[in-house]
This record gives sequence, structure tokens and C-alpha cells, in this order.
Amino acid sequence: MDRITVYGAPWCPDCSRSKAFLLEQRIPFDWIDIDADADGLRFVEELQKGGRTIPTIMFPDGSHLLEPSNADLAEKLGLQLHAVRTFYDLIVVGGGPAGLSTAIYAAREGMDALVIELGALGGQAGATDRIDNYPGFPEGIGGAELATRLVAHARRYDVELLSAVEVSGIRREPDEIQVATMRGDNYGAYAVIVATGSRYRRLGVPGEAGLIGRGIHYCATCDGPFYRGADELVVIGGGNSALEESLFLTTLARKVTILTRGDLRASELVVDKVRNHPRIAIHTGVDIVDVEERDGRLGSVLARERATGLDIRLEPAAAFVFVGLDPNTAFLRGVIDLDERGFIVTDDRFETSLPGVYAAGDVRAGSTKQVGSAVGEGIAALLSVRRALERGHVKAATVMDEVMVD
Ligand code: NAP
Repeated sequence: MDRITVYGAPWCPDCSRSKAFLLEQRIPFDWIDIDADADGLRFVEELQKGGRTIPTIMFPDGSHLLEPSNADLAEKLGLQLHAVRTFYDLIVVGGGPAGLSTAIYAAREGMDALVIELGALGGQAGATDRIDNYPGFPEGIGGAELATRLVAHARRYDVELLSAVEVSGIRREPDEIQVATMRGDNYGAYAVIVATGSRYRRLGVPGEAGLIGRGIHYCATCDGPFYRGADELVVIGGGNSALEESLFLTTLARKVTILTRGDLRASELVVDKVRNHPRIAIHTGVDIVDVEERDGRLGSVLARERATGLDIRLEPAAAFVFVGLDPNTAFLRGVIDLDERGFIVTDDRFETSLPGVYAAGDVRAGSTKQVGSAVGEGIAALLSVRRALERGHVKAATVMDEVMVD
């Protein structure tokens, strides 16, 4: 066996989580559904002397993990989880397009940078099927490919990159900023750029929480392939994400039905593609009332037409939810100013209310939520940090003194 094999079942949330983690880390693996594969079930039972704990994950070296946490998986995969040093010129929290672009520019400016990412390097862009509006790629570029290229670019400059490491807090000390991680490490820096992005929002209807991973999903690229050949998939939401992912899901299912409360509000090109697609049905002006379980999985989606009050009950194989974004700023509450939706407020130099801490990309209040602008903001924030270091607004690192001379 030269690849990782995950034995599990579609109804098992820990199986979906482990698969999502491997997909995020862009680690190839084989998937065996033990409900559908008798040999797979036999293998799991023999390995566990009759037990059936899933996911059971087999590694090429013959070892295995049963129901591992993401931290267990990260350790087993040999991901770098601790930084080499305890102090850097700059710490970038978040390894998506904004954070990685910041780090690439920091390295080119001669700064020692450490990037700390909670999930996989590449961020949400890496889990997007296709990015069609990133300048310079007339045919579009796969999200995973763009992410891989950004990571390779940062590595070329020897930027230190940690993934699967969660930052628990940021604290200002007189001469530095301290960044603490959930793994118990503390790192200091002269400046910090927060580029933690945002994540897909949940619907908030009663049945949702119990069905996550069992028919309710938030990532079409990660979980869509479970439903290859399905008769119908539902997409909830009417923005760019919902529409672009609907187009992707038509490659897997015979029919995709979009349900959204308002009208479609994405770019004209995507709206046209969706409206003219022969296998996409669109219901606008509907509220999702509930998602209902049947046999441990999503059974039906119950929606209500705003205009008539009529109920619509659909029975898709799965529903993919794209109803907007929430910023990843829980660790900053009470530390820096956030707007009413939790996005980070910055001035026009990308500095937050905490001196020396900057923000860039989707996590910033007023950002455009475009990969191109996230890259631009990451670079602009870094140049601001550099100017602040030059002016002595943020304590300068020795290495910066050298940079300022030339
Ligand atoms: P979004 O633009 O905020 O759209 C959310 C959609 O979900 C809206 O249509 C909204 O309807 C609907 N909605 C919200 N709550 C709902 C509910 N409970 N039930 C049913 N429908 C609900 O979110 P997004 O599509 O995730 O995009 C986020 C940002 O990223 C946007 O700025 C977007 O332009 C950007 N983005 C850009 C691209 C691209 O350029 N290629 C791709 C993806 C995302 P209402 O109209 O009623 O609010």
C-alpha cells in the first residue's frame, strides 16, 4: 500500500472530518465505504479483532489510527507543528492567499516571518473548485493549484510555515507582540498581520447541527464527490459561492436545485450560466424552515415561499449551504476592535486598534472577499508594517535596520 486508505461510512461525521483534513492538506488517499464494500468491512473487523471503529486510517508504513483527532493526524503526517525559534520580525496568523502573499513579500524585504495556519495552507481558496477571476489565468485556475503555488513561492524564500496549529491569543507587551498557540507555544514578534479569513456560515435551522457531514455540507469540492450519480442535490444561497459551487455540482448530480431567500446576487456572468443551465432549477424568495433526518441522514429540506407561505419539501441526496461568511476572529474578541459582524476594523494602513497588529484579506471589515484583493491587501499590509518599522512606530528588528540602509 503506497497511499493512505480511509475506511469509513458516509454517515460518520468523524470520517468526513478526517477526509476533509486530508483533502485540505492536499494529501492523496483512497476511501473505502465499509457499508458498501464487504472486503473493507472484513478488513476493519480483523484489524480490530471484531471492532468496527471508524474512521480506520491505514498508512503506507503499515501502521493505523482509529478515529484520530486532526491533531493526531497532523502529528502522524509529520506536519511542522512548532516553530524553530521563539521570536520573529513578523508573525502572520493565517496561511491563505493574504497571509502567504504577506509572507512572500516579508521574506523578500529581508524579514524573518512565521506563518501560523489553523487548517491547511492555502486557506478557503484551496478548497474552491475553480477560481475564474484571478488575473493572469484566462482559463481559470483550480483553487488547490493556486494554493500549492502560493505555498511553493513562500517556501522558496524559506518562510517558516506551520499548519494545523491554532492561535489562541495575541497580547501586546511593551516591546513586542506575543502570539500564543493551542499547542502551548508562545512566539514573539515586532509586528503581527492577521489574515485568518472567514468561514461559511450555518443556516441556523433546528435539524442542521445533527446532520452536518450526513447530508448537510459547506464545501462542494470536499464533499460533493460523495454524491456522484445522485438524482438531486440542493444548494442553499444565491451569492457567488452558491452559484459557482452549483455549477460544479452539476458535474456530479443529474439535477441541482438552488434555494435562496432573495434574488440571485452574484456576478452577471455566473448568474447567466446558472440561469441557462438545463439541469439547474432555481427557487428564489424562499426561507429554509428546517432540514429533516431520515435513517440517520438528511431526509428532506423544508422551505417556505415568502410570497405565498406555501411549503416546498425536497428530498435531495444532500444540501450544500453557502449563505455567507463569518470571520475567524474569536481569538481576538476583547483584544482588538471588531465591527458588529466580527470583522477586524483597520485604518487605511491596515493597522488595527492594537498598535503593531495589522489585518488583511477576508477577515478585514470592508474587504471585497476576492482572492485578488486578499493577495493585494496582504502585500499592502506588509508594506505598511515595513514603513512603521522604518519610522520606529513599531520597534525595529536588527534585520530591518539592515534593510533600511539600502
Ligand atoms: P454572500 O454573497 O453573502 O451571499 C449569501 C447568499 O445566501 C445570499 O444570496 C443570501 O440571500 C443567501 N442567504 C443568506 N442566508 C440565507 C438563508 N438562511 N437561507 C437561504 N438563503 C440565504 O455569500 P457568498 O456567496 O459566500 O460570498 C461571500 C463573499 O465572497 C461575497 O463578497 C462574494 O462576492 C465573494 N465571492 C466571490 C467569488 C468570485 O468572485 N469568484 C466567489 C465566491 C465568493 P439574501 O439575498 O437574502 O441575503
